[in-house]
Amino acid sequence: MSRSEITIDLGALRRNVRRVLDVLEGAELWAVVKADGYGHGALDCGRAALQAGATALCVATVGEALALRRDRPDARLIVLGPTAAGDVADAREARLELVVGDERIPEGVRVHVKLDTGMGRWGGAELPALGREVVGVMAHLATADDDLDFARRQLERFREATAGLDGVTLHTANSAAALRLPESHFDAVRCGIALYGLSPFGGDPGADGLEPVLGWESEVGLCKLLRPGESTGYGRRFVARADTWIGVVPVGYADGFRRSLVGTEVLVGGRRCPVVGTISMDAFAVALEGPVEQGTTVTLVGGGLLLEEHARVAGTINYELACGIDSSPARAVRAIMDG
Ligand SMILES: *Cc1c(COP(=O)(O)O)cnc(C)c1O
Repeated sequence: MSRSEITIDLGALRRNVRRVLDVLEGAELWAVVKADGYGHGALDCGRAALQAGATALCVATVGEALALRRDRPDARLIVLGPTAAGDVADAREARLELVVGDERIPEGVRVHVKLDTGMGRWGGAELPALGREVVGVMAHLATADDDLDFARRQLERFREATAGLDGVTLHTANSAAALRLPESHFDAVRCGIALYGLSPFGGDPGADGLEPVLGWESEVGLCKLLRPGESTGYGRRFVARADTWIGVVPVGYADGFRRSLVGTEVLVGGRRCPVVGTISMDAFAVALEGPVEQGTTVTLVGGGLLLEEHARVAGTINYELACGIDSSPARAVRAIMDG
């Protein structure tokens, strides 16, 4: 067992793609693989999503798209974030599609015009004159995961602003809207989180027929008995009241197991145990019911333990935890399951 082992189940990812396609009833599914596929690996996940029926890959930056282009010479690649003028030539050369939020539409590259219908970030309130380069018009929803009334108002503004347009692809939906707001589907949806089997609503992804793609395991590096009054970790935040067995796990916040996860549970040999003390850069401790063998598997994510549970403890969202997991070879072993 390695100190930090990330397993990516591409079979689950394909099933999630098909699950979302089922609810789309004909709209295209574009797979969002920015931030290295939400920490899952953009190349592997992008490839699997295309195989399962996604028709384009979306990223945030030109740099992310160029890395994908080397792997997928023929895929449709869309850069959702703003592009610096200096990157337009590279984008044109690599046949990327760009998103623009104002009148300055670059030449010789296919663009999607972004309308601000209530997100209050990129995009203008009205459509500029659309030239030949414009292949899509889009908006982004601020509240598709909770306030559906506001989301519907955004969609209404979008429908008004795009009324009568012909021959361009209209797209507004993220994962939450794809699953909950059929009227947001238009011609294509841009789905990220759901494809990784994570819930856009922060609850159980299984409730929407989604399966987690990422598993994360480590091991008990050392098991020891704390006597009453003895503590574990920086700041002595956990002091044993009675004899307490603890397991020290060689993963920490540098691996993406955030400092705010104290109190969450992990599985030690399949049993739930609380994380105690202070999570440090490269290690944390769990309170055990009794002694376990060194090398006992510690499941951080998987086996029924959801990233959503950790996000609740940490006071954040599954998106942020997923993006923060470090699966680079210097810190982790990354295994791909493809079945
Ligand atoms: C990231 C992003 C998405 C995907 O959102 P999910 O909630 O992960 O599905 C869609 N559209 C835009 C513009 C984005 O930036």
